[in-house]
Amino acid sequence: MFRNFQMKRIALSVVVIVAVVVVIAFAVITTERGQNVLLKKGARAVNGVAPAFDDGLHVFVCGSAAPIPAPGRAQACIAVITPDHFFVVDTGSGSVNNIGLERLPVDRLDGVLLNHFHSDHIVDLPTLNVISWASGHDGPLRVYGPPGVEQVVTGFNQAMGLDRLYRTRHHGEDYLPAASGVMLGTEHSPASELVLGDLRITSFAADHSPVEPAVSYRFDYKGRSIVITGDTVVTDDLRTQVATADLLLTDALSLPIVETLHEAVSAAGNRQLTKILEDIQGYHAPVSDIVELAHASDSTMVALYHLVPGPRNIVMEQVFKRGFTDDMVLTHDGMWFHLQAGSNEIDIEH
Ligand SMILES: [Zn+2]
Ligand SMILES: [Zn+2]
Repeated sequence: MFRNFQMKRIALSVVVIVAVVVVIAFAVITTERGQNVLLKKGARAVNGVAPAFDDGLHVFVCGSAAPIPAPGRAQACIAVITPDHFFVVDTGSGSVNNIGLERLPVDRLDGVLLNHFHSDHIVDLPTLNVISWASGHDGPLRVYGPPGVEQVVTGFNQAMGLDRLYRTRHHGEDYLPAASGVMLGTEHSPASELVLGDLRITSFAADHSPVEPAVSYRFDYKGRSIVITGDTVVTDDLRTQVATADLLLTDALSLPIVETLHEAVSAAGNRQLTKILEDIQGYHAPVSDIVELAHASDSTMVALYHLVPGPRNIVMEQVFKRGFTDDMVLTHDGMWFHLQAGSNEIDIEH
């Protein structure tokens, strides 16, 4: 009886405390004074100390999907950061929003690397350039890619000409210098290397035929390494690179999902989508081939991004994961992989 009374008292106290908290929260959110306090706190947090990066390779998934729309997923984009360098591989639609929300240090962005020039890899390029320029980037942003990159960069520079003019006039040459607002396209051959201190970036040919050229990128830094495929099927070159890499980020196509979609659109008489869903099956890595690759390189963590199609729910995620081993990861936007120098571990931050 006594125990029952005590329980009732505790339950009543909890109800009263929750009610008081709800009333206070309501008062803070719905009054100007309360809102102003929260705004100030938020503004201080956003302008606080920028995230620091330990010695190692830090990989941020800024876009995990492909052109087929998927909730909460931007199109292809992977950011790679070391204490001294910062590169972004591909800039698909929505990816720069993720970069901005994560407060990545775009003022010190060394460059953008483009795998190839399909829209889902390039359309956010001018947005990335604008936020980098507005953050005080020193000089024009460099955009690296295989032959064709200059055409893409020239076109975006031209399209953004008026935007640059407005911003320089509005904020002044001291803050947004006109000469720094343009991007510089830098073409490289599919097999090439860029060395910046301890960081080596190697480009090798990808197979995204009939789209040519397409390249994949490998980053090596103080004994740690990652390979980012962009769009490709699994090639011998890729197998060779992956055999000695810590982490692979690969495009991936789920055949069971794409075949089911294909059946549905075909039955509905959608000629256009039926044709596209047939054509795309040959130029992305099917998950079954990636599973095989993961088995052959058992010291490499294999992470799937550029998901075709981006899963919309847990069922599609489970279908994507068919055959997954312990070292395989289905990425989502906002995921981090940390590869510390002097370690063999990879820390995943969700
Ligand atoms: Zn593509
Ligand atoms: Zn793509």
